Amino acid sequence: MKLGVVKESRFRRVAIIPDTVPKLKETGLDLLIETGAGEQALFFDAQYTEAGAQVIDRSALLTQADIIISIDPLFEDDMQAAGTDTWFISQFEPYNDREIVDKLTQKGFKAFSLDMIPRTTLAQAMDILSSMASIAGYQAILSAAHHLPRYFPMLITAAGSIRPARVLVLGAGVAGLQAIATARRLGAMVEAFDTRQAAKEEVESLGAKFVEVEGAKDDTDAGGYAVEQSEEFLQRQRAEVQARAMKADVIVTTAQVRGRKAPVLVPTSTVEQMKPGSVIVDLAASTGGNCELTRDEKIIQHQGVSIIGNSNLADDMPQDASQLYSTNAYNFVKYLLQDGKVNLDLDDEIIGGAYITQTDQKD
Ligand code: NAD
Repeated sequence: MKLGVVKESRFRRVAIIPDTVPKLKETGLDLLIETGAGEQALFFDAQYTEAGAQVIDRSALLTQADIIISIDPLFEDDMQAAGTDTWFISQFEPYNDREIVDKLTQKGFKAFSLDMIPRTTLAQAMDILSSMASIAGYQAILSAAHHLPRYFPMLITAAGSIRPARVLVLGAGVAGLQAIATARRLGAMVEAFDTRQAAKEEVESLGAKFVEVEGAKDDTDAGGYAVEQSEEFLQRQRAEVQARAMKADVIVTTAQVRGRKAPVLVPTSTVEQMKPGSVIVDLAASTGGNCELTRDEKIIQHQGVSIIGNSNLADDMPQDASQLYSTNAYNFVKYLLQDGKVNLDLDDEIIGGAYITQTDQKD
């Protein structure tokens, strides 16, 4: 079977890097790489060829590949050109795009969505969401530090002392925890909130303060994801955020509820209470934003506060982001293949979870 890797249209990342090519070949696959696919992540065609892949143009790849792997789903025209015999592996985000599954199924496409793999210990090595979220959390702090007109660490100089920056992290999942760790490494004082009680210990183990808001809904049956909170709880949380935001130099927001609009935790009135020069980095921008003023993929200023709306910060570090995605994707493909063929075992939690185009949906 042939596995094709396309050039991303929206991202600088690439789904498979040259180092992964020999490993995929060991599973019995031949590798086809679109010309220039890795260029923007600094993986060049010659490296792919040297690793044993064939570099070809997009139209040839679409017709020859049996499996096509990408970070963003292919455009429909490309999927049509590839045909319904092809297996597509990508991130279709069916929890955000409710119609995508019906659309793909009706057209007879066969698709695995890597973002639907359950967040279990067994599947950890395939968890692209964690890989990308971790980079985004790290980049969020670097971006904030870049925009902040003040220092992060405490400094004692001959010209006087500088107090450490105060960072508030809202949502302490994978991205939030990495943001906390990075801010701490830069010497900031960090506080964090999450509705999941499980986050408390993790936050504290990174040397940050966990801020509790009483009355969060139980999420133990939500597969590790957060559940939507009541308006009354969110109001209490906003009041708590407001009190801390006034002292914060940086707020990083990552709070998301899968399949829903992100909760608004930082209303305009809170932004207006913040010190001029402060920075908000909103990683939930693509699902509506945790700050009322956030505009997705834009940096705006409001009364001296910079608000960076970016849910794609992993793309600012395309080389390592591609490396991690590539390893996650390889682990999934290896798991999926048996004797060099796709083993569509829908009873398997990982394969059944990722395969979104089942026509005979199980109950
Ligand atoms: P996410 O991106 O869906 O959400 C980010 C964070 O926002 C979460 O921690 C969530 O609890 C929080 N949040 C939601 N509403 C909030 C609110 N109103 N106020 C404050 N915080 C709010 O989450 P994620 O980072 O993808 O992680 C989801 C879960 O999966 C976590 O529990 C994580 O520990 C777990 N996980 C498990 C594994 C594994 O076992 N293999 C791997 C990765 C993640």
